[in-house]
Formats: sequence, structure tokens, C-alpha cells
Amino acid sequence: MSVKTRFFFILMLLCILSQSEIFAQTTKNPKIRTIIIDAGHGGTDVGARGAYSTEAQITLQLALRLDTLLRSEIPDTRIVMTRTTDIYHHVREKANIANNEKGDLFVCIHVNAAQPRKTVSGYKSVAYYKGKGSKRKKLYKKVPIYSTSPNPAHGTSTYVWAADRSDEKAQGISDDDRYESSAEVMDVPDVNSPEAVIKARLWSQKFFKNSVQLGTLIENEFVNTGRKSLGVLQRNHMGIWVLQATNMPAVLIETGFITDKDEEDYLNSESGQLEMTRAIANAVIKYKKTIDGK
Ligand SMILES: [Zn+2]
Repeated sequence: MSVKTRFFFILMLLCILSQSEIFAQTTKNPKIRTIIIDAGHGGTDVGARGAYSTEAQITLQLALRLDTLLRSEIPDTRIVMTRTTDIYHHVREKANIANNEKGDLFVCIHVNAAQPRKTVSGYKSVAYYKGKGSKRKKLYKKVPIYSTSPNPAHGTSTYVWAADRSDEKAQGISDDDRYESSAEVMDVPDVNSPEAVIKARLWSQKFFKNSVQLGTLIENEFVNTGRKSLGVLQRNHMGIWVLQATNMPAVLIETGFITDKDEEDYLNSESGQLEMTRAIANAVIKYKKTIDGK
């Protein structure tokens, strides 16, 4: 063996050793150590209402099932639930729990709702009076008659916080597409203040990409189970407050529309809940493997 070949051989050996050393370190010290599961709403805040169930009931059932799945399948990962019973937390408290527990991932479970559709079904004549005294006249005007019908909106979506509008990976949504109840959707305070701008930029650099990555995995899993996916969406100024308040990649999953009869039935059924939590767990485990393996 020439000196050159021997040198090359030793170099290769060192490379292999250091590679395996790095690998051993990453698997021994996973980056995703704590996952926070947040069952949306709760207690006095029931969230969206369906024909017979509430969002807060469904999110808790889904969160508890997801907790059980993740605990058994990734036992070395700490799973923290923001609530395990029907109690109310302000979104600030939810974010505080996630931050104090030093979560590496925040998974928020919600159910969507869409306003009934209001359409003009006809017109009716309504009397009104014009003028005073002897000149007073009775006149008629036509006013529309409205009728409401169920909103056909259905499907899943996963929200990430649009910290920086230049991040184009998630689709933007128009104001008309906001379905989430007002308790969760609040103005992010002082979005134009220097502190908020710095915070948004940091969040964007540190967490946006990973949040979109997890969101995409989740929506793909939903599609695999046959659900209709509305995609990974982002919000900015009227952001979902809790997403920007967590110091970790964060997603808010809208598991379906409680205002759609079929989806309300699905989300309340055991098979539907098992399918949804299986899909979310698959995505979370895939995400964890990718991040830990890096
Ligand atoms: Zn909600």
C-alpha cells in the first residue's frame, strides 16, 4: 500500500467514524423532545357549534386520542396536553403552557365552521309614510326576503402563522375565508411596533419553514385517508393569536367543518376520530424523524 493510498484509507475511516458519531449523537439527543398538544377552546368557550356537538368537545376527544397514540409510539418524547378536561384557558395561558414546558412543537386541534348562506329568495311590499298632515301619504316599497341554507364548505386545513409576507410557501387566505371563531382570532398586538417586527422576523427565520413542513405532512396524511384538503394556510394581521405566541414551530389543524352534516358525524364517530388522529400522529412522527435525523 503506497503512502498516498494509506493516507486516503485512514481519511475514509475517519470520515466513517465521525459520521457514525454524529448519527449516534443525534439519535441519542433528539431535537424534538417535547410536543405540546392543545385541544382548542374548552369550558365556557365552546367554539363552533354543530347540530348536536361543539368544537370544544371534539377537539378534546381528538387531543386525548392523539396523546395516547404518541405516548405509545414515541415513548421517549414528552407529550404535554394544555388541557385534559373540559376547562377554559385564555389563548395566552395556552401559549404560556407551551413556552413554560419548553415545547419543540405545538399542535393545536380545532374544528372549523362556516356561516349559513344568506340568499334573496324573493321580495315583499312594506308600507311606509311620507309627508305631514293632509299631505301624508301611504307608500309601499319592495324589500328582499332572505333565506338561509347550510354552507357547503367542508374539508381540512392547517394554519401556520404568516410572520413574514415574503414567505410564500403557504397559501394566503382572503378575509372572506376566515371561519375560525373570534376567541381564537385576535389582532396580533402592535404588528408594526419595532419589537413585533423583530419578533416576527425571528419567528419566520426559526419556525416558519418547519411549521409549513409539518402542516404539509398533516394535510398529505388527510388526503391519504380520503379527506378533502383545503391546504396549508397562513394568516398575518388577524393571526390566530396562539400561533405567534409560541416559541416553537406551531400548527393549528382545522379537522373539518362542524357546520357540514357529514363532517360533524365523521368527527364525532369513533372511526373518524381514529382516522384523524392516526393521520396527525403519522405526520408528527415523520416530521420528528426528519428533524431528529438532521
Ligand atoms: Zn377553533
